[in-house]
Amino acid sequence: MKIQQIDVFQVDLPYSGGVYTLSGGREYRSFDATFVRITTDNGLEGWGESTPFGSTYIAAHALGVRAGIEEIAPHLLGRDPRHVDRINDAMDEALVGHLHAKTPIDVACWDLFGKSVGMPVCDLLGGRTAVSLPIISSIYTGTPEEMRERVQQHREKGYKAHSIKIGDDPALDAARVEAALADHQPGEFFLLDANGGMTVENTLRFLRLVPKELDFVLEAPCATWRECVSLRKRTNVPILWDELGDSETAVSHLIHDDAAEGIGLKISKNGGLTRCRRQRDMCIAAGYTMSVQETTGSNIAFAAIVHMGQTIPKKFLRCVLECRDMVSVETAVDHIPVIDGHVTVPDLPGLGIEPKMDVLGEPVATYS
Ligand SMILES: [Mg+2]
Repeated sequence: MKIQQIDVFQVDLPYSGGVYTLSGGREYRSFDATFVRITTDNGLEGWGESTPFGSTYIAAHALGVRAGIEEIAPHLLGRDPRHVDRINDAMDEALVGHLHAKTPIDVACWDLFGKSVGMPVCDLLGGRTAVSLPIISSIYTGTPEEMRERVQQHREKGYKAHSIKIGDDPALDAARVEAALADHQPGEFFLLDANGGMTVENTLRFLRLVPKELDFVLEAPCATWRECVSLRKRTNVPILWDELGDSETAVSHLIHDDAAEGIGLKISKNGGLTRCRRQRDMCIAAGYTMSVQETTGSNIAFAAIVHMGQTIPKKFLRCVLECRDMVSVETAVDHIPVIDGHVTVPDLPGLGIEPKMDVLGEPVATYS
């Protein structure tokens, strides 16, 4: 089985809640999504998605996804897509870094691998667990009462886990957290995610202001490695890394520095399912918790999240991000219903998705 053609599609995914605000005054209204379809010489099609969260989030941007694919795609024609590690070697030889450009190709190869043998991707990644995966919300910044209300809206939709965005003034953040957790229910879980927007000083002040009895994990407090490690030495609050935990190298350093209790394993940020599989195994060996996520995305990105999440033993799985809820466009039928705040992988080959060609439109680039 050989890669015969690689098509690239582009779709704008408007944020479903209007304007999404993050620490530092960052605003996001719509996300520029790139989709890859790989066609093989025996007529199979595999799909993948990469949707960076705007150009002010991490060192990943939508134009770069498509420019990166232009560099990479010609080097993959004629290769067997099921040799996923070799595909990643070839991508690395063609282009250094730019993991978010490699992700949709890598995920499409896994989709093809599954379809070629009639197995779901999660089974090829090690086999499905019996775990129902709790979905987590993404509660953007606002006034304390607005955030309390947004948590309640998600609670009513079945969410058991909530990612509360913080990262501004310590007193305002403390008030936001107190409000957002005010109605917490048994079995609920809260991440306080600063997306690297706090200084060490502000984080320490914030932690002094938050009521001691509140149960949460602090996520991505500061922007740099030094700051996060420094903070780590001065607090006993559990910490999850996200933006800085973006590769096997980062995970190995993170473990060495004993700098966290786990990471946000974002499929496109961390380089696709092949690399996430390695990072998953490193995290399990270290006893780390994983929150399987994306830098947002639609149905195809969500399917990749859920397949990876479905392979993580329960004690190491924090949650999976329900990124579909963040965008107002459906790019595929994914057969992943939310039942009581949880999802599981359908027993279908590959990612188990059916792309909606009327939404994806015509390719913006084709390599054959
Ligand atoms: Mg995060």
